[in-house]
Parts: sequence; C-alpha cells; structure tokens
Amino acid sequence: MPNSKEVRVRFAPSPTGDLHVGNIRTALFDWAYARHTGGKFVFRIEDTDTERVTDEYISRAVETLKWLGLDWDEGPEVGGPYGPYLQSQRMDIYAEWAQRFLDQGDAYYCYCSSEELEARREAQRAANVAPGYDGKCRSLSEAELSAFISEGRKPVVRMRMPDGETTFTDLIRGEVTFDHNFVPDFVLVRGDGSPLYTLAVAVDDVLMKISHVLRGEDLLSSTPRQIRVYQAMGLSDADFPHFAHLPFVMGQDNAKLSKRNGEVSIAWYRDRGFLPEAICNYLALLGWSPGEDRENVSMKELTELFTVERVHSSPARFDMKKLEPINGDKIRELDLDDLLSRVTPFLIKDGVIAGTDDQLALVRLTLPLIQERIATLAEVTAMVKFLFVTDFAIEESEQPKIADAQSQSVLQAALDTLNSVSQWDHATIEAALRETLIAGLALKPRIAFGPIRVAVTGSHISPPLFESMELLGRERSLERIAAAVQK
Ligand code: GLU
Repeated sequence: MPNSKEVRVRFAPSPTGDLHVGNIRTALFDWAYARHTGGKFVFRIEDTDTERVTDEYISRAVETLKWLGLDWDEGPEVGGPYGPYLQSQRMDIYAEWAQRFLDQGDAYYCYCSSEELEARREAQRAANVAPGYDGKCRSLSEAELSAFISEGRKPVVRMRMPDGETTFTDLIRGEVTFDHNFVPDFVLVRGDGSPLYTLAVAVDDVLMKISHVLRGEDLLSSTPRQIRVYQAMGLSDADFPHFAHLPFVMGQDNAKLSKRNGEVSIAWYRDRGFLPEAICNYLALLGWSPGEDRENVSMKELTELFTVERVHSSPARFDMKKLEPINGDKIRELDLDDLLSRVTPFLIKDGVIAGTDDQLALVRLTLPLIQERIATLAEVTAMVKFLFVTDFAIEESEQPKIADAQSQSVLQAALDTLNSVSQWDHATIEAALRETLIAGLALKPRIAFGPIRVAVTGSHISPPLFESMELLGRERSLERIAAAVQK
C-alpha cells in the first residue's frame, strides 16, 4: 500500500455521456469502502478525451453524485492536497512522466503509421500469432530514425513491455496473471502529444496516493499495463494500490445496459420520483450483499457493513422491478416533512400547485393517506390533483363507471344522505354512507363506493375515499356528486 496506511479510494469516470447505473454502482462501492474504513473518497474526472467529454457531462456527473449523497473528500468543488482533480488540468504532469520514461529507456518513440500497423496486424492474423505491436521501433538505427524525422512523421510514445508475465492479487478475483505475449508494447502519448488513459490513470493513482482501486471488471485487462507504469515510476510491488474488480452489471434480459430501458441515466430515475437512497440501496445489492437475505439497507448501514469480501465475482443483473418496491419502502420510511419537501417539486412541475403555504399544508394532510400507496414520488400528482383543480372533470376513461343505472342511483342516494349530515369529517361521512348504501340498499362496498370515488376525485385511483371527501370539503364534494348525477 502506498506510503501511508490510510485507505484512499477513487471514483474516476470519463464523462463521455451520462453516468449509467454501472458507473454509479462503482462510485457507491468506492464511497462505501472509504466510509467503512474511515479513509478518503477521491473523485477524479478523467477528461483527457476532449473530443468526447463535455463540460455538460462533467457537471451532470458532479450533480448526480451529490444528489445520491455520495460526498467526496477530494475532487471537483472541494479541492484537496493532490489536485487538480480534472485530468485535463494535469497534462503537464503526464508529459513530464512520459519524458522520464523515455529518458529511462522504459518507453520509446514509435513512428509506425496506422496503415503500417494495420498491414502488420493483418499479417499477424494470417500467421495466427497474437495480434499487437511487434516492437518494430524498439531499437531504430540512426539512419531509420532520421529518415522518419525528415518525412515529418509525428511519433507516439510507447511503453516497452518486458518478456514474462504480470501477476497480482485481485481482492475479489484472487490471483490474476497476464502473459506479456498478450500485453504488447502500448501507447502512452499520441502523436499530437495527448496522453492515453493508461498513462494518466496510473500516474494519478500514484500521485494521489490511491491505496485501493475498486472499479468495473471491464478494466481488469488494463491492470498489467498500469502496473508497468507504476514500475517505471519507481514503485515497488508493496507500494502498488490493491485492485478489486467489481462484477459486471447487466441490463434486463442479460443484455447490455440499455438507454431505452432508462438503465443508463440516473436522471431518468430522478425524474420518475425514485429516491436517491432507494437507488443506492438497490445498486448496493448488485454484486454485494449485507447478509441474511436482507434487501433494505440504509446508507448508514451500508457504510457499516460494506466490505470487499462480501462482493461477489459473478455478474449482477439490473432489474427495474426490484427497484420499485425498495423505493416504496424508502418512501414509507420518510417523516411527513421530508416526504412533503420531496413531492413538492413534482407537484409544482406537474402544475398541480404553485407552492403556497396553504397548498403545502393541504398536501401535507394528504400524505399520511398516500404514503402507504405509492411506489414513486411522481405518483402523488394523480393522487392529490382532485384537491387543487379549479376546472374539475372526470377522466374520460372513468365516465362509464358512473353512467350505468345502478351507479346513478348510488350517487343520488349518497347525495341525499350527505346533504343531511351535520358534521363533515371522515368518520361521520363513512357512517352515513354505510348506513344508507350498505345496510339500507344492501350493496357491496365496491359497488357502493366506486362511483362516489370517481365522482369526487375524478378517478378510481385516489387516497381513501372518506378522508378525501373530508379534505375536499363539504361544498365541493356535494357539488361534484350532484354534477355526476346529472350525467
Ligand atoms: N475513467 C475510466 C472509465 O470511466 C475508469 C478509470 C478507472 O477506474 O481505472 O472507464
């Protein structure tokens, strides 16, 4: 472990698009491991690919981590002792190291053009040998060198891979060995002087004193190259970071995570009313388990229980159907003020309320009635809209539910009964309606109360009926039932 005993983990995305659930799962595990060990969580933006990374994606990545509650100790906005934490601001550092590797003889200039490389790869394929750089420029003669230079060729910087193999112990996968026959000399710096991922990531992990690299399994094969860079930087084996390659996250139907199913973007879940703590809880279960078949873990418990030993090596599958019930559970755990503050933006965005104190007070009164019934925050709109609309209308699709003769006679009877109740609270309303419709007319509750629900709330999905009528008030409730009778 490098220099000190302190645990330092990093999340190092390349924001060439929105972070997907696989990236976030990695971030979550990094964060949880740092918090579990009392170490530091470093957030580094790998934005050397200036063609594909945009400022917009970077700021969305930052916002996403914030929204999820994955706070970082060092990185964008907070800084830290080993910054800057955007690789685009560290280009000089990578250039200096590349130069050092050249000076030391660990790296060399390679003048092969892409056409030449392609032709030789073709020949390798035909001869059935492992494809990869063949070492042509490892030892150029003076004459060859000056010929290339006078042709105006721009060289790349290539790392020399010695014969042999690289072995390291992955904390999840155990001992992993790469035969260097399959790890050819690799490019560190492009012809235009820009560094490649392998150089930047390894240099930064060393300079930022990263002790543990927890990241997706897709990066396993880049590890021997990174280790080669550590060696060229003068690190001894004992100073290399520990590696833990997290299991792959698959999308539905065992396919790749797909944009179409919304699996790739956390913003998609946020817009649909998923809570950050539900997303984190669910993602935590993708490849890790708290034990005893538990499915509900708080962020606090996650940090208490998270160990790399409990991470499995087999792929995990992202399943939206499992996320929903967890979200419902998390919604039920919220206190009313918290729930109110979370549903308010949805109600404002959907045009249900403007956000006045009176409106918020009324919404708050409905929350105990609906907290049990919703799986996402976005569902609240449909549940409370009836209380706020000024031009109340019964949904088209619900009209048939009150049009038949039986429904009409139920509504008429309800109207007569409610006109004569003296007190407007849910218990009185319920007692009066039960007396008339259930006891008196011998109707089944569904037959009796279904049409009233549609008449009063406009839909067959609503908070409990009698409480809804109490909140709506006597005047508006009676008005709506009367209007439905005339239909
Ligand atoms: N920047 C790399 C990526 O987003 C990951 C770097 C790493 O974790 O080693 O794919």
